[in-house]
Amino acid sequence: MRLDRARFRGALMGAVVGDCLGAPFEGAPGPLPAEAFAALARDRAPLAWTDDSVMTVALAESLVRCGDLDEHDLAAGFAARWAEAPQAGYSTRTGELLARIHAGTPWREAHRGAGRPSNGAAMRVAPVALVAAGDLGRVLTLAERSAAVTHPHPGAVAGARTQAVAIATAVRYLGPARAAAGAVVEAARRAAGDPVLEQRMAAAVELVAADQTGPQEVADRLGAGLAVQESVPAAICAFARQPDSFASVVTFAVRLGSDTDTVASMAGAIAGALLGEGAIPRAWLERVPDLERVRALADELHALAVR
Ligand SMILES: [Mg+2]
Repeated sequence: MRLDRARFRGALMGAVVGDCLGAPFEGAPGPLPAEAFAALARDRAPLAWTDDSVMTVALAESLVRCGDLDEHDLAAGFAARWAEAPQAGYSTRTGELLARIHAGTPWREAHRGAGRPSNGAAMRVAPVALVAAGDLGRVLTLAERSAAVTHPHPGAVAGARTQAVAIATAVRYLGPARAAAGAVVEAARRAAGDPVLEQRMAAAVELVAADQTGPQEVADRLGAGLAVQESVPAAICAFARQPDSFASVVTFAVRLGSDTDTVASMAGAIAGALLGEGAIPRAWLERVPDLERVRALADELHALAVR
């Protein structure tokens, strides 16, 4: 299978760019007026990463360091990045968990219950989707294992599976970009392995098929909050309504409101995986810090994927 390095870069950089553009609106009720996002999009001011980007990069770094997924290294990497910037937007639960791991508690013992079916594992899953892109079965396994380190709730794991398969299917897709939605959405729906999420994915498919995909309809029907059953279908829907335009995908994802950084990060990862880094507007790239490091990590994941 031919795996294109520019699309690996697009996925990882797209995740970070989406996070940065969504972050200023996190928690805002959706749908946002078009002008609210347009004002941010045409601004020149630097943007900032949140936990979505920090954890995505930490997962990529661990995969590159170990040549494979190693839960102990991954837990240590997440904890080290958390300690550098604990105010990056982590949920209270994840922050406390990473603090215990940072203090020396083994990751399995650091958990206090399975947590909630939140999007905390799905939001950072792009690196495993890329490193295993040649083998969708391995994408699922690695998505589950990477999720379990911090988000073992079955719903959170299902979200990671779904988002990972969406990214992997997009990065492998060979037809015209504007026709990619069906293949990506259907593969992601089948990967969910969770009845609630599967049903919500079906609702997303209906919305895209019926062309009722204004931000109002999607915000009303799917929601865009931090629950997996809202944010993962919302991100995939944002991608599927206009898969050949990275800017449209991220704009739509942010306009849904609510968990804007995560939904835009997930949607940006899928669009970037399909379209490559060249599809990300230059004016946005210039405002996002540390993208050289993200690009280099994408290249190292590509080298692992094709070895
Ligand atoms: Mg965040």
